[in-house]
Amino acid sequence: MRALFSAATALLLASSASSAPPSDVGYDIVEGLTTEVGQRLAGTEAEARARTWAVARLKALGFANVRVEPFDMPVWVRGGETAEIVAPFPQKLVLAALGNSGATPEAGITAEIVGFPGLDALKAAPDAEVRGKIVFVSHRMTATQDGSSYGYFGAARRTGPSIASSKGAAAILIRSIGTDHHRVPHTGVQDWTNGAKPIPAAALSVPDAEQLERIIARGKPVRLHLTLTPRMTGIHPSGNVIAEVPGRDSKAGVVLIGGHLDSWDLGTGAIDDAAGLAITTAAAKRILDGPKPKRTIRLVWFGAEEEGGFGGKAYAKAHGTEKHALTAEADFGADRVWQFRTHFADAKSPLLTELTSALGDMGVGPGSGAAHGGTDIGPMVERGTPVIDLEQDGTRYFDIHHTADDTLDKIDRAQLDQAIDAWTTMLRVVVDTPDPLSALPAQPQED
Ligand code: ZN
Ligand code: ZN
Repeated sequence: MRALFSAATALLLASSASSAPPSDVGYDIVEGLTTEVGQRLAGTEAEARARTWAVARLKALGFANVRVEPFDMPVWVRGGETAEIVAPFPQKLVLAALGNSGATPEAGITAEIVGFPGLDALKAAPDAEVRGKIVFVSHRMTATQDGSSYGYFGAARRTGPSIASSKGAAAILIRSIGTDHHRVPHTGVQDWTNGAKPIPAAALSVPDAEQLERIIARGKPVRLHLTLTPRMTGIHPSGNVIAEVPGRDSKAGVVLIGGHLDSWDLGTGAIDDAAGLAITTAAAKRILDGPKPKRTIRLVWFGAEEEGGFGGKAYAKAHGTEKHALTAEADFGADRVWQFRTHFADAKSPLLTELTSALGDMGVGPGSGAAHGGTDIGPMVERGTPVIDLEQDGTRYFDIHHTADDTLDKIDRAQLDQAIDAWTTMLRVVVDTPDPLSALPAQPQED
C-alpha cells in the first residue's frame, strides 16, 4: 500500500505549520480539541479523554481550582445504519440514528412508509394509519439569524419519535433538522416520553428526505428496508470540567460561564461546541491576565449536554445554593455576536446601561425580549440567576449542526475573534460592576 503522505508532503505541512500566525487561546482550543480528541460522545471513553485534555489545557493557561466534577449517566452509542427503498424505485437513502433511538434486528425490518408533511399531521393521524408502518415526517426549516426556527421545527425530532411509537409505528424517519442541502444527516437527541417504547428513529439528510417526498407523491405504496443497530451500554461516568478566575470579593457572587465539552459522534464538534469553550475560555483568560476582578469567574466545560443536559443538572445540584451573580453560555457556533439580551431582576439595572454602552461601542446592540440562557445554565436560570445571552449569528449554524460536517475548517477565525472580543467586553463590565445583581424569582423552564 502506498504511504498516505510522502516525505515531501510532510515537509510542506511542517513548513506551513511553522509559518502559521502566533498561537491564540480561542482558536487553539478548537483546533486542539478537534484534532487531539475528535468526537466526544457523552459518557464514552472519548469524552473521558476530552476531560483529561481539558484539565491539562486549563491548568496550562493558568486558571485556578481546575477540577473534574463527575456524574453518572445512561450512555447510548450508534450502531450500523442503512436505509433502502425496496419499492417502487429501489435505491439507498442516507440517514443517521437519533440519540436514544431503538434498534431494528440485525437483519433490519421492511415496512411500508406513511408520510406526513409535519408533526401536526402525525399527531392528527388515526393510529390505524400508522400502526406497523415506518413513519416519515417532513417539514421545511429555513435559516434564521437568531436560530428561532429550531424551536418549532426541532419538535419533529424531539417529540416525533414518541408520538409515532405511541401510535404503534414500526420506526420513524424525519427530515433532518437542518437548513443545508448536503447529503449529510443531522442527528440530535430525543427522549421517549409518556411511556413510549423505543423504536428505531433516524434523520434522513435533507436531499434524501426531499427524494422520499417525491417518491411518495407518485402515489404508489413505498416500502423501505431499514437497519439501525444503536444500543444503550449502561450507566457510565461523565463530568464537568471547572476552572476559575478568582475574584477579590467572595460575597459578590460567582459569574458562571461556559459551553459544553461533549459533542455528537458524527463530526468533531468544532462549532458545537468546541467554539463555545474557545470563546468563553479565551475571554476569561483575558480577565485572568488583567487586574484581579471583584467577582470570581467560574468557567465550566459541561459534560453530556447533547444527550439531555446531564452536566448542567449536575452543576446545579452541586452548586445551586451558592450565590451566582450572573450566568451566560456560548453554544451557538463560532460566528459573530450581533446582539445581546438580558434577564435581570431590575429592568433599570445600572449594569444594563453599562453593557449597552460597552457592547454598543463594538456594534452589538440590545435585542428585544428576555434572555433565557441555554441547556447547560438552564437549571441555574430556573433558580433565578440573572442571565445574559450574547447572541451569535446563526444564519449558517443549522447547515452544519450535528452533522459529519461539523469540523474545524468551518471555523471563521475573524468571526470567532469578534465573539471573543464581545465576551471579553461583557465580562469586564460584569465582574466589576457595583450593581448587586439581585436574583430573580425561580422560574421552572421547559427542558
Ligand atoms: Zn451545543
Ligand atoms: Zn448540539
